[in-house]
Amino acid sequence: MPAHVVKYEYNDGVKLRVPEVWCGREIKYPSWLFQDAQHAALAAGGSIQPCKACIKAIIKQLEQEL
Ligand SMILES: [Zn+2]
Repeated sequence: MPAHVVKYEYNDGVKLRVPEVWCGREIKYPSWLFQDAQHAALAAGGSIQPCKACIKAIIKQLEQEL
């Protein structure tokens, strides 16, 4: 099962009950999550695959920032 990448864990300083992930999917605990894009990138080639939809959303965001 692919692991999603966390986008927001806090909203206005309040910790969310369930973190928001990049692909927008509703996740349920316990679920394996990457804390951020950097962790997901470091795990590439490892046994835990990042969610492809999350990676696409991150790349899209990066492209908009460039
Ligand atoms: Zn995802």
